[in-house]
Amino acid sequence: MSHSLQNCKITPYYRNLLDSLGPDHPLRRTVEPLDDCMLASGELTDPLGEEAHSPVPGLVHTYPDKVLLFATLDCAVYCRYCTRSRLVGKSSGDWKLSAEVFGYLEKHTEIRDVLISGGDPLTLSDAGLDDLLSKVRKISHIRTIRLGSKVPAVLPSRITPELAGILVKHRVWLQLHFIHPAELTAEMTCACDILAGAGVPMVSQTVLLKGINDDTDTLAKLFYGLLERRIKPYYLFQCDPVIGSSSFRTPVEKGLQIISELQGRISGLAMPTFAIDAPGGGGKISLLPNSQFLRDGNEIVLTNYEGKEYRYPD
Ligand SMILES: *Cc1c(COP(=O)(O)O)cnc(C)c1O
Ligand code: SF4
Repeated sequence: MSHSLQNCKITPYYRNLLDSLGPDHPLRRTVEPLDDCMLASGELTDPLGEEAHSPVPGLVHTYPDKVLLFATLDCAVYCRYCTRSRLVGKSSGDWKLSAEVFGYLEKHTEIRDVLISGGDPLTLSDAGLDDLLSKVRKISHIRTIRLGSKVPAVLPSRITPELAGILVKHRVWLQLHFIHPAELTAEMTCACDILAGAGVPMVSQTVLLKGINDDTDTLAKLFYGLLERRIKPYYLFQCDPVIGSSSFRTPVEKGLQIISELQGRISGLAMPTFAIDAPGGGGKISLLPNSQFLRDGNEIVLTNYEGKEYRYPD
């Protein structure tokens, strides 16, 4: 059965990067159209059950303290494995967060953390972004604002001192998306220097992708490269079972094996948390290798990254 996925969009910058990497580089598969793709059982158009947890359009409230906003349905590139492929690149007219969304934020005083995503909010204009951030900042119980973006990886020229100034003014955290060390180019490094130099705190999320980044050396290189550029690796995600994702998904054991090989080897600051976003809206669930421990009388038996046992008096 074939299924046409989403729109295709690749920035000239990312196109040049892919061309310089050669015709067989695995990164190509993440953005280039496939003739058709297989549908596997268990795949869903909305794997995280976001629609069911959306009290008003454009806002997802899964956890008590934090919400996710869709600021735009546009991205600089469209990723083949995108969990939100049901929405991104599909909007006909202009998408804008409604007054209802801000009404909901004002009413729900338990919300203290807002993650602005989409789509990619850095595809908005400086003025549009400043306006949106000002509206969120006006709500006094909202203490932290984060903005999810893949722009530094695919359109680094969008990062300017003016943009960094807006992010700093509103005390925004950037939650970036990188999947491969080939994305750590001179242009991307320059963008990171602008952001980190201005004082924008940055973390990164990586989706584990079969045949693309599912080996320990590739990820060690990526996580170290991000850390050098002052971006803290935050999450390594198991790929969501979105429609058409089967060629990208790894067995869960693969991620656990990679995490256990990285643990103890690389700098602790470069280690992300391995997590699965539970299908149906259960939220993120982190997974640890060797996390089970044994009790032996007054001692806990722990296993380290080399498989050696250590005893802790407890
Ligand atoms: C991922 C996500 C968040 C943020 O989760 P953190 O673990 O705090 O980064 C918030 N709301 C929704 C709906 C999410 O999917
Ligand atoms: S940048 Fe993010 S939201 Fe946009 S297509 Fe890629 S994964 Fe989806």
